[in-house]
Amino acid sequence: MLHFAVAGAPLSTPAPGGTVEGIKHAHSLGITAMEMEWVQQVPKNPARMKEIRETAEKCGVTLTIHAPYYINMNSPEKAKQEASKKRILDALSMGQLAGARSVCVHPAFYLGMDPKVVFENVRRMFADIMKQKKKLFPDVNFGLETMGKPTQFGTLEEVLKISKEFDVFPVLDPAHMHARSNGAVNSMEEWNEMFDLYEKYLGKKSLQHVHMHFSGIAYSIKGEKHHLPLKESDARWKDFLKVLKKRKIEGVLVCESPLLEKDTILMRDTYAKL
Ligand SMILES: [Zn+2]
Repeated sequence: MLHFAVAGAPLSTPAPGGTVEGIKHAHSLGITAMEMEWVQQVPKNPARMKEIRETAEKCGVTLTIHAPYYINMNSPEKAKQEASKKRILDALSMGQLAGARSVCVHPAFYLGMDPKVVFENVRRMFADIMKQKKKLFPDVNFGLETMGKPTQFGTLEEVLKISKEFDVFPVLDPAHMHARSNGAVNSMEEWNEMFDLYEKYLGKKSLQHVHMHFSGIAYSIKGEKHHLPLKESDARWKDFLKVLKKRKIEGVLVCESPLLEKDTILMRDTYAKL
């Protein structure tokens, strides 16, 4: 099954809002997945995580997580490396308690360094974090995201290489790929190439449990500027849905449009009618 996830509690969630109410409300809208946006900080309350997990199980809502933005696995400063590692581990371990399937992480910035050196730095920290998998996050995927700016580590091949080595899967964000390339990756042919490469690295079965993001996006030569509602963007989103349907891609597709549930439902319903 392909779940269309809302990126955070739906905007129409009744007061007092929050994650638990958001899950219940998403469920009432027929939305079957939600990404928890821990982008500023990771919540640290285990009792709250249990409540989230139980609510999601009861509602049949699949959960994913977006880890904090303040992460750079390539920082030359020891203190920043440690802080990044801690934020990632916190997100993964709290995700385990909350019953989330996968955690999305923005890996790093190149900082003007040789991408090969950056790759090794990211890989080293990734390996370090994976040593704790058994203990802290046995059921949660550590997903590096494909990133939207050329200054950011996170080409499709970079995240696929690391994911293959550690037997995890990355977070595919075709909107980021579209922005990074200043307008390419917006056709069925290119999305098919993207999934071909994914499959080549991770195997055919990997396309049955993807973690993806999609939205409209504003961009320039410098890549991503900000997300846009589907209908206000140049994204050929219906064609993208056709590719997903044709290839029988399954897993979670998080709609990162600023309209949240409105565009999530638009994608879900359009997909169903194909
Ligand atoms: Zn992201």
